[in-house]
Amino acid sequence: MPEAPAAPVMPETTFDALIVGAGFAGLYQLHALRDRLGLRAHVLEAADGVGGTWTWNRYPGARCDSESHAYAFYFSDDLLQSWDWSERYPQQPEILRYLNHVADRLDLKRDITFGARVGSARWDAAAGLWRVATQDGRRYAAPFLVTAVGCLSSTNMPDIPGREDFAGAVHHTGEWPHDGVDVSGKRVAMIGTGSTGIQAAPVLAEAAAHLTVFQRTANYSIPARNRPLDDAFKHWAKAHAAEIRATMHATPNGHPWTVGPRSALEVSAEEREAAYAAAWEKGGLALRATFRDILTDRAANDTAADFIKARIREVVQDPATAAKLADIDHPFATKRPPIDTGYFETFNRANVALADIRADPIERITATGIRLRSGAEHAVDVIVFATGFDAMTGALLRMGISGRDGLALSDAWAAGPRTQLGLQVPGFPNLFTITGPGSPSVLTNMPVAIEQHVEWITDCIAQLRAQGRATIEATDDAAEAWVAHVNDAANATLMPQAGHSWYLGANVPGKPRVFMPYAGGMARYRAICAEVAAQGYPGFVMAGQAARVPA
Ligand code: NAP
Repeated sequence: MPEAPAAPVMPETTFDALIVGAGFAGLYQLHALRDRLGLRAHVLEAADGVGGTWTWNRYPGARCDSESHAYAFYFSDDLLQSWDWSERYPQQPEILRYLNHVADRLDLKRDITFGARVGSARWDAAAGLWRVATQDGRRYAAPFLVTAVGCLSSTNMPDIPGREDFAGAVHHTGEWPHDGVDVSGKRVAMIGTGSTGIQAAPVLAEAAAHLTVFQRTANYSIPARNRPLDDAFKHWAKAHAAEIRATMHATPNGHPWTVGPRSALEVSAEEREAAYAAAWEKGGLALRATFRDILTDRAANDTAADFIKARIREVVQDPATAAKLADIDHPFATKRPPIDTGYFETFNRANVALADIRADPIERITATGIRLRSGAEHAVDVIVFATGFDAMTGALLRMGISGRDGLALSDAWAAGPRTQLGLQVPGFPNLFTITGPGSPSVLTNMPVAIEQHVEWITDCIAQLRAQGRATIEATDDAAEAWVAHVNDAANATLMPQAGHSWYLGANVPGKPRVFMPYAGGMARYRAICAEVAAQGYPGFVMAGQAARVPA
């Protein structure tokens, strides 16, 4: 039999820098490398438009839990002044519009290839190039490769037996169909009660005939108190942009508020209760900043946890359901605390039920619904998996990255991610990971972390070129020391006590249990990175010869 002709090898297109992903991070990185350094930079993006996480997460109720006036680029006064947010917490479509506004205003789309999912990225040491191929065979090369793939972009779909038998529709919230899902008149099962499930449940309950929420771990949630923004606030935010930016840069989480200076244990019970009640009434993530030791002292944390559990029992009318929702097994804010619009109230609706799958786990999915270990059957038409992500490392590991001597990133990280500052990995020259594991990323207001990384990477590449060097690579010793510091920073907080959190990789079977984000605070991290740059990049090796380019 004649052999099938070999697939044609596509020509390779060469750039100065390749960026993977066109969300907040990729857009700003493209702008910085192209318009500040004058590099021929190019973005490869799997989706058909800009937006990153906001392209994929179109589930009902999707909105940001950072306040809109802080969930924006602050590097450009023009961008700040040319955009108005409509609500305190913007919905997914509005954030997507904002990112399109950014891309259009900075004329970025002409340097982005959409529909390009990276399948492999290989360091070619002889040529000093990253050779990148998309899953459909397009080939690119560049000396610098910057990943801007987000921390929560690789979905976690649990391997529950029988999924293929289900006759109805199955959707993961992180890959929600772009034209929506009509649940009207349908019985819906939603598995998962993280930030996503807590946002989606009230909206699904409004639309569906019936909603059953499958809860494995009960969760805290704080009312968002979302509202339209009035003109006075919009004017204030624009006029005070410099102060807002300064506050965001000075705080541990990159949000526009400061952490209360007092201990929760140094005030009277009445004063404490009043402080929590005020934060509850105001709404949003700032409740965890009411006192300085909520995240570091278990007794202090208990006071916040007890306050929230009491509110849950107050809101939820059925005592048995309230008891299950308030039976929370980890300290407050040791998993990312959701904020909600009517989540606990949803359980007072006649068409909503809670299934406690900690007590009675899911055994299998059947043709008609979900069967629990006790034999109880939940007949449903739609199953929504709000089961989160293979966070922080998943998207990077799925890209097929290999560094010096063919070292696969999956092997380099077999025991958990090892990075210098979350920015570079030993053995992977000229690879930069925006908001990579080991950086504050998910513990912060993301645009703040992204801006800092993009600016550090851009300055680093400029310095490398100014010194006439071709490559920069993190050293093993530096990564070893940084991983130890990341562990110490986590252990100085209560966060490792949430044993099942995605911060630890514990939500994905077989994933190494390592606390991945840097918990030392964004402000401290920013100072460390700035010091490394000022000292001439200790912990990194610059090598090779390249033409000198003035910084
Ligand atoms: P998540 O926090 O990881 O929550 C996943 C939920 O699914 C948990 O309740 C988990 O239970 C459950 N689950 C996972 N596997 C399961 C299984 N096999 N069987 C039963 N239940 C299972 O994911 P997420 O809610 O998508 O949120 C992830 C992160 O995305 C958030 O923490 C936040 O950082 C970000 N996010 C932000 C926003 C926003 O800005 N508004 C909105 C959504 C998400 P266990 O807890 O028992 O593992």
